[in-house]
Amino acid sequence: MDIIRIEELQIFAHHGVFPSENEKGQHFYINAELYVDTEQAGHTDALTDSVDYGAVCSLLSEVMTGQTCKLLEAAAQSCAMAVLRTFPLVERIVLEIRKPEAPIPMAFRSVSVQIDRGWHKAVIALGSNMGDSRAYMTNAVTALRNSEEFRHITVSDFIRTKPYGYTEQADFLNGILLCETVHSPHGLLRYLRSLEQEADRKRDIHWGPRTLDLDVIFYDDVVMSDEELTVPHPDMQNRRFVLAPLVQIAPYYRHPVSGLTAAQMLERLHD
Ligand code: ADP
Ligand code: MG
Repeated sequence: MDIIRIEELQIFAHHGVFPSENEKGQHFYINAELYVDTEQAGHTDALTDSVDYGAVCSLLSEVMTGQTCKLLEAAAQSCAMAVLRTFPLVERIVLEIRKPEAPIPMAFRSVSVQIDRGWHKAVIALGSNMGDSRAYMTNAVTALRNSEEFRHITVSDFIRTKPYGYTEQADFLNGILLCETVHSPHGLLRYLRSLEQEADRKRDIHWGPRTLDLDVIFYDDVVMSDEELTVPHPDMQNRRFVLAPLVQIAPYYRHPVSGLTAAQMLERLHD
C-alpha cells in the first residue's frame, strides 16, 4: 500500500518515569508511516481523497502535549489510536517516538519505541445459555461499539440453538459479529475474556452452561495455533450455530485454509 511519511516531527512534552522529566519536559521526535490508498487522490488531485499530513502533525502534537505518560509505549499507543480514529483512510500506522534527551548517564544518540497498528478484519462468535442471554450478548456488542479499538461492526440476528457437546443444559442463544479491530489476535482474545469475566462467566464444565462465550472465528487470513489461541476457530466448520448467522451477514467470507465460503460450509453441513 502507499505510504505518507512524517519524519522527525519535534514536540516538546513531559513524558517520562522520573518526576523531573514530568516537571521540566524535553524534546520528542516522531516518525510515522501512514498506509493510505492514494490512487483516488492521484487522479482527482483533491486533498479530501487523501490524508492531510499537516492535520496529522497537529493531532500528534495535541496528543503528545495533552497528557503525561510514564512510558513511550503509552504515548505511542495514544498517538497511533488518535490517528487511526481521526483519519479513517489510514489503514495502518507505523509510529516511532524518539527521546534523545532521555535521562541516561551515558553517551547515546537516542532511545525510541516503534509500534505498528492497523485495522484488521475479525469475526467473533457470541453465545450464552444462562441468565438473561440476550442482555449478556447485547452488552458485549455495546462494549465493542463503545471501544475505540473497534469499528465497522455488523451483528447477525441472535438465534436459539440446542446445546452442543454437554447436552444436559438450557438452549443457547448464538450470534456472529463482524468488525475491524486494532487488537492483535492475542490482544483480541484478552479483551473478549475480560468481557466474559464482566458477565460473571463461570468456567466449571467444559462446554457447560455459560453467561457469555466469545470466540475468535477468523482474524484476517491468519492461520495460527498456540496454547492460548487457534485461528481460524478449529471447529467452526462443524457448528451450525456459527455458520448460520455468519451466512446471514457474510455469505462470501472465505475460510483461509479450505477456501470455502461460509455459504459453502453451511451447505456441506446439510449433507
Ligand atoms: P469453548 O469456547 O471451546 O466452548 P472456552 O470458551 O472455555 O470453551 O475456551 C477455552 C479456551 O479456548 C480459552 O481459554 C482460549 O484460550 C482457547 N481458545 C483457543 N482458540 C480460541 C479461539 N479461536 N477463540 C476463543 N478461545 C480460544
Ligand atoms: Mg470460548
